[in-house]
Amino acid sequence: MSEHNKTKLVSVGRKRKWTHGVVNPPVQRASTVVFNTVAEKQSAAINRTNQTLFYGRRGTHTHFALQDAMAQIENGAGCALYPCGTAAITSAILSFVKSGDHILMVDTCYEPTRDFCNNILKNLGVETTYFSPTIGQDIEQHIRPNTRLLFLESPGSITMEVQDVPTLSKIAHQHDLIVMLDNTWAAGVNFEALKYGVDISIQAATKYIVGHSDVMLGTAVANEKYWEQLREHSYLLGQCVSADDAYLGLRGIRTLDIRLRQHAENSLTIANWLTSRPEVDHVRHPELPSCPGHEFFKRDFKGGNGLFSFVLKTSYPKATNAFLDTLQHFSMGYSWGGFESLVLANEPKSFNSLRTIANPNFKGTLIRVHIGLEDVDDLIADLTAAFEKYNEVLD
Ligand SMILES: *Cc1c(COP(=O)(O)O)cnc(C)c1O
Repeated sequence: MSEHNKTKLVSVGRKRKWTHGVVNPPVQRASTVVFNTVAEKQSAAINRTNQTLFYGRRGTHTHFALQDAMAQIENGAGCALYPCGTAAITSAILSFVKSGDHILMVDTCYEPTRDFCNNILKNLGVETTYFSPTIGQDIEQHIRPNTRLLFLESPGSITMEVQDVPTLSKIAHQHDLIVMLDNTWAAGVNFEALKYGVDISIQAATKYIVGHSDVMLGTAVANEKYWEQLREHSYLLGQCVSADDAYLGLRGIRTLDIRLRQHAENSLTIANWLTSRPEVDHVRHPELPSCPGHEFFKRDFKGGNGLFSFVLKTSYPKATNAFLDTLQHFSMGYSWGGFESLVLANEPKSFNSLRTIANPNFKGTLIRVHIGLEDVDDLIADLTAAFEKYNEVLD
């Protein structure tokens, strides 16, 4: 597709064969697909992996439209759908490892990804080595004869380190590894994973694709080399999604560009404001030089969004709690990517279990915010009031 990104997001997945003449592909709910003749049934069986109605678990036109859309957005050969981002991560890994294999996992991965490696993969006889998100070329030292897979997440969860994905992918491919990336932060649009050497780009579509905090959904877009195995093994693992949720994923795509731009504008304004607050040690926003890997963000990313962290000078949980309880526009919640602002706090000792080798050893509390689509002045006023309460408790 040669269209600009905005045009693409409006038009993908809207072929007439999926929309049946209206603007959006209708929700086609189905378990059973029925055939009137033996020839019809045989033809469906032959074409069942090629966007042809066969059986509900293989998808309906609503699913095919979303798969089409995501594969085009991320420039892949195909897109597998999962009931959540975690299912996309675990199924993509399980589709390519066997007992005796070894995988390389970035130390700043999403917490359930780590727990999956340390429990389920370990029990299956697959060993995980964690590496620093800033390792660069030295990744080669961790590659063994039985290493199968390199798993990246950029920026890293909570601490936001941006990775040198092209360098890591290049070295991994020299050793015939599969490269997977949790590309949730960039929503598949602000970092073109497959162009930078990633084989499978995974997203918690729960976040920005859906964009309204009301659906769990996962996607994995694979290149030509790995698409068939990803598709078939995920199918064997029983991974499928309701047509209603696929529909809402498609709806989210239409406003993805404009939402991301506004999130990014608001979050950069607030990140800059935070740098001048006396309580703040440093801000971890990929668009600011104080974020590890900022140079890779500048080189590789097309835009930002609403999610970033900042680290306070001290850790004093009572004051942190007062800060959090004072906020009116920021709710506490374990997610992000919706239209609303959210906040979570991590005390320094929490990183002892979240990191194996890249513990940043912060002295102060880390606050992660998701900046929503509210007016940025209201959010700054809210944060100002929360800092006042924070200082009252601290004094
Ligand atoms: C939320 C999230 C996930 C998991 O997505 P779910 O849909 O909640 O399972 C995976 N990776 C990242 C980076 C996330 O933020």
